[in-house]
Amino acid sequence: MIARVTLEIALRREFDYLIPEELVDRVEVGTRVKVPFGPRSVLGVVTALADESPHTNLRPIERVIGARSLVTPRVLDLARWIAAYYCCPVELALKSVLPEAVRREQAGWRERLFVRTIPPSGGLPKLTRRQTEVWNVIEELREVPLQELVRITGSTSETVRRLEDKGLVQIAPRITERDPYGEEHIVPSQPLPLNPEQAVALEAILGSLNPGAVALATPNVFLLHGVTGSGKTEVYLQAIAHALSQGKGAIVLVPEISLTPQTIERFKARFCTGPLRTLVAVLHSHLSSGERHDEWHKIREGRARIVIGARSAVFAPVEPLGLIIVDEEHEHSYKQEETPRYHARDVAVVRGQREGAAVVLGSATPSLESYHNAKRGRYHLLELTLRADNRKLPVVRVVDMRQERNRSKGPPVFSQLLRDAILHRLERHEQTILFLNRRGFSTSLQCPQCGYVAGCPNCSVALTYHRQDQRLCCHICGHQTPAPRICPQADCRNPAIRYAGIGTQRVEEALRHLFPHARVQRMDSDILQRKEDYRRILGDFRVGRIDVLLGTQMIAKGLHFPNVTLVGVIYADLSLHRADFRAAERTFQLLAQVSGRAGRGDVEGEVIVQAFTPFHPAIQYARRHDFVSFYEQEIEFRQQLDYPPCSRIALLTLKGRNEDKVKFTAEHLKRELATAVAGWPNLVIAGPAPAPLLRAETFYRHQIMLRTRHMSRLSRTLASVQQRFPLPDDLSLTIDVDPVNLG
Ligand code: ADP
Ligand code: ZN
Repeated sequence: MIARVTLEIALRREFDYLIPEELVDRVEVGTRVKVPFGPRSVLGVVTALADESPHTNLRPIERVIGARSLVTPRVLDLARWIAAYYCCPVELALKSVLPEAVRREQAGWRERLFVRTIPPSGGLPKLTRRQTEVWNVIEELREVPLQELVRITGSTSETVRRLEDKGLVQIAPRITERDPYGEEHIVPSQPLPLNPEQAVALEAILGSLNPGAVALATPNVFLLHGVTGSGKTEVYLQAIAHALSQGKGAIVLVPEISLTPQTIERFKARFCTGPLRTLVAVLHSHLSSGERHDEWHKIREGRARIVIGARSAVFAPVEPLGLIIVDEEHEHSYKQEETPRYHARDVAVVRGQREGAAVVLGSATPSLESYHNAKRGRYHLLELTLRADNRKLPVVRVVDMRQERNRSKGPPVFSQLLRDAILHRLERHEQTILFLNRRGFSTSLQCPQCGYVAGCPNCSVALTYHRQDQRLCCHICGHQTPAPRICPQADCRNPAIRYAGIGTQRVEEALRHLFPHARVQRMDSDILQRKEDYRRILGDFRVGRIDVLLGTQMIAKGLHFPNVTLVGVIYADLSLHRADFRAAERTFQLLAQVSGRAGRGDVEGEVIVQAFTPFHPAIQYARRHDFVSFYEQEIEFRQQLDYPPCSRIALLTLKGRNEDKVKFTAEHLKRELATAVAGWPNLVIAGPAPAPLLRAETFYRHQIMLRTRHMSRLSRTLASVQQRFPLPDDLSLTIDVDPVNLG
């Protein structure tokens, strides 16, 4: 027998190997293997089996990794689709469908030594006092991990070994599973009676889950558009229960940042008891590689039938698969920003179609793409317009910051309205969340005399001033330098250099100055050094040890604190100024998400949005919680410019240290592309042009953007152009299909 193997070293082809006699039973499509390649051994996946090979002198497979095939044929199929659509080698697509820990088996199973009693035949042999003490404990517990026994008795493993010599106990390794949430106590939850809107939504989803329905409905994709707090999660839970009752499993995708213990517990609580009882496996980047290995195998073996995880959980080997849920489907973190540059939401839709599973995309602020698909009838639109707990949506007030300017110092950090509102909350012992999507103290260091701005030597951005350690930092490459006290220009030396723009540190300082007695906590990536910090700060906030929580987008989402009655957005137009056609959409989403943090308890919430362009539609529609009107206005703009979702984009970025060479090669590439797509209808090639961020980490970047209605066809063409294009060694080319970040 011959195995056709895709190697991890990305050679864009498959190689044939002999399957040695003793491995025949263990090699199938999807098996991970180690094979000889030149002088070394490399890892790969078996992608096909054959009786014969056109090649001679085949070498044998060296080793099989894992007890059973790790990549199911269905996931293998999905990896092939990703490679074709996102223009990347199959090897790289295959790499991302298995967690690193599983691919390499380096973490392996954790074996622990266990001590077990062997009932003594006849009387107890003579024991020392120490040995008797230990024996008494073992006899009581019957079986106990060696380490734990040593700890409990304060003895040594030597003492236990003596007992083994005397034939009283057996010490043997046993596999134990790491459970990242093993220590938590979970209170079971029961399904809630649904309100009419929820019931309609669930009914529709269940309709597609029933046997027979699968063949009829193309595609089984639902867009669940529900305002924050409308009870989307309850709909997910009941849909999952239904899938389980039919013997099928479910995958729940959540943005990494929302994958909090709270979220995970909601799912575990529902399925930890009762007839549908099953393990809930969790896959995300904060697990140790050992934990990830064990979670993954629980799924592969079918012991965990619900998987909850971030982006890559879309590849979890759940079989049979009944349902995929993509919560907060508009989130950009579903897009992987390295090869393969797949979008997990779109992969979920494709996987659902191929495996006959229902796909539910949920959001309070759907992406224009998904809403457009729903409008065109490609997805079923389900709407939840009311909060499930009958709480009102918060009142949103927009403050015109142009009016707040006081002549000498420019605009203040806080408007009068926001200042008063914070004061009120402090008096009433209610909590406030303040949001500003920019860390550091100020945006830039400027000299008002000569116009000098401190810039990064590696990137085309201004350095941000961090006051605490008196340094200037680049938020792109991490470059740091001490902040100068006078203008560094030789012919200027002005001692009155200024800090322009505001960051979270500056807001924190202003807060402490205005409210010296308030307990203020900042939360941004400068504060969070360890992974526990995030949990600890949120824990402190929950129990009321913090009055005002101030932070970047990491506090904008998913958090649920009943005592928060005020949310302040310090500078709402910040995200409008990005060179990106999605700037308005992003702003709308962000404002809606942040507003959703207010009034989740008994007291009605209030949101104060400070803006310099208060009448921008993204801000005004967010103020009225009116997604549909925002969509209608925004889609018109996209139509006019032929941007997604009305077309699809492929973004090609050339990167190199020599700008002229980058430019020259980009021109050449453009000519190649133009020839390859000559005569295609509705195809636009724009550029080459400098990327919005021209220089990053010392590399210059130039881009070519293609827009089309037929991406699959374009992907094939791009792949073939890429293969034959003579790219100089010191340049690199990335192809990003359906990019969310325009660079
Ligand atoms: P979403 O996921 O849409 O933000 P959640 O599912 O978190 O909303 O629901 C918000 C709150 O409403 C939760 O506390 C939830 O327990 C509650 N809830 C959801 N559905 C119902 C229902 N049918 N009856 C009563 N409370 C509900
Ligand atoms: Zn830099």
